[in-house]
Amino acid sequence: MTLNRRRLLGGGLTCAAAFATDATKAAGAVERPALPAADTFNCCAEVVGEASEDFGHIIHRRPRSVFRPSSAAEVGTAIRWAGDRGLKVAARGQGHSTYGRSMADGGVVIDMRGINTVRRVDADRIVVGAGATWREVLIAALTSGLTPPVLTNYLELSVGGTLAVGGIGGSTSRHGMQTDNVLEMDVVTGAGRELTCSPDLNPDLFDAVRGGLGQCAVITRATLRLVRAPERVRRFQLFYPDFKSLAADQRLVLEDGRFDQLQGAVLPDGTGGWRYQLDGAVYYDSDAAPDPNVLAGLSDQRGAAVISDLTYLDDAVAFAKLETLLRSNGQWSNPHPWWLTFLRGSNAERLAAGILQDLTNEDVGPFGRITYYPLLTGALRTPSVRMPDEDVAFPFNIIRFPPSNNMAKIDAMVARNRALYESVRSEGGVLYPVSAFPMTSGDWQDHFGPAWPRLRQAKKRYDPRHTLTPGYQVF
Ligand SMILES: Cc1cc2nc3c(=O)[nH]c(=O)nc-3n(C[C@H](O)[C@H](O)[C@H](O)COP(=O)(O)OP(=O)(O)OC[C@H]3O[C@@H](n4cnc5c(N)ncnc54)[C@H](O)[C@@H]3O)c2cc1C
Repeated sequence: MTLNRRRLLGGGLTCAAAFATDATKAAGAVERPALPAADTFNCCAEVVGEASEDFGHIIHRRPRSVFRPSSAAEVGTAIRWAGDRGLKVAARGQGHSTYGRSMADGGVVIDMRGINTVRRVDADRIVVGAGATWREVLIAALTSGLTPPVLTNYLELSVGGTLAVGGIGGSTSRHGMQTDNVLEMDVVTGAGRELTCSPDLNPDLFDAVRGGLGQCAVITRATLRLVRAPERVRRFQLFYPDFKSLAADQRLVLEDGRFDQLQGAVLPDGTGGWRYQLDGAVYYDSDAAPDPNVLAGLSDQRGAAVISDLTYLDDAVAFAKLETLLRSNGQWSNPHPWWLTFLRGSNAERLAAGILQDLTNEDVGPFGRITYYPLLTGALRTPSVRMPDEDVAFPFNIIRFPPSNNMAKIDAMVARNRALYESVRSEGGVLYPVSAFPMTSGDWQDHFGPAWPRLRQAKKRYDPRHTLTPGYQVF
């Protein structure tokens, strides 16, 4: 650590801009910062303001300071500095959590966006900084004709941010979560130690970090599995008159495995009713067209089907169009009280139909949706990523994009999320921990179930001062 950085840390870690300068410019530039004090203060207020918010816009927690490291060593310095002072620390990737999970009230937020270098692409793996987005990872992998086997629907999420929770996508039935496709990680523990972990090296840490809600360590580098990328994707959005016929076809296509990606949703129809959608995609290369009979035997309203045929990259980034629209109408920056769960395959239809009965278009907003589709759980092996204990589970998510920021309505949605969670939990459903409602430590213990003792043990070992990631209130 340089004397200059020591001074800045000792001075209270007050300015992210000063740290960014320190990390990227010669030491002399830091002694005489380029920005005058007033500008520096304004800049810091903005940076601290950003770290007090997230995509959820429901919880607001102001950190004492924000730190932008450019190396794992700097992450370690910041964690040790904060730990010595009894301050909490949260890593922040892209801030797309929905309930303050990347915030640290009065503590230190570590903005990981500066640790985003793609270090290496090999025949079956890629090594990246954990602050890289999945779009950056995909673009680098595609230069070698490769792809991560599982991509989230939205690629502007950081690698560290999704590895902390799971990372589900349309190909999860085949390949598991993103946490099932990470081979090795470099991390900085809550005690400020730099360690490497994998199934063979510090395996307890590896399992505590993947899906472990940032409780034991900050991921600085990840080695991710790659597979051959198809050239093109033909995507079929099929519509059904009711939930029952959607559910029947979803079960059918899950069983016969005809789609490379399978998802589905219940969408507001704009008149107070719902549209029931199955979303299936097949991969192909330009020299071998996909099976023309891929929709055989399905009972959808074929005239309403929407079929797209895009390059693999264009298909993967397609969510960006909705983002642009929602940014332009202001709904991207409204509060987002999302609710995400997994239902048991054995009772999913009954539970989901009951909940759907009581939901209105207003509950999700005109651009929102209720995600509902089956997946095979066999490929999911990350101990801390919880899943119903059955061969088939259903992601069942209320993805709310409210058209206004009326906080009374948002608070009511958050309370409803909690009540819905309790009803789903009592029927064997499991939380996807990117949901917007309060959880107690007891709730988390219940959530992690058989994985809890190992997570608690890892916490004791790797973050004994309970420095890391206060936003979930796990410990
Ligand atoms: C529009 C949108 C679409 C989404 N689509 C999907 C989807 O298809 N599939 C899916 O699984 N999820 C999806 N999500 C949810 C998303 O995966 C999670 O909210 C994820 O945590 C966000 O990543 P982030 O980089 O923004 O993380 P942040 O919000 O910055 O952080 C999330 C959590 O991870 C921790 N964290 C961040 N970086 C690190 C690190 N390097 N080391 C350790 N902990 C870290 C933070 O402290 C925080 O607790 C979506 C979210 C949005 C807003």
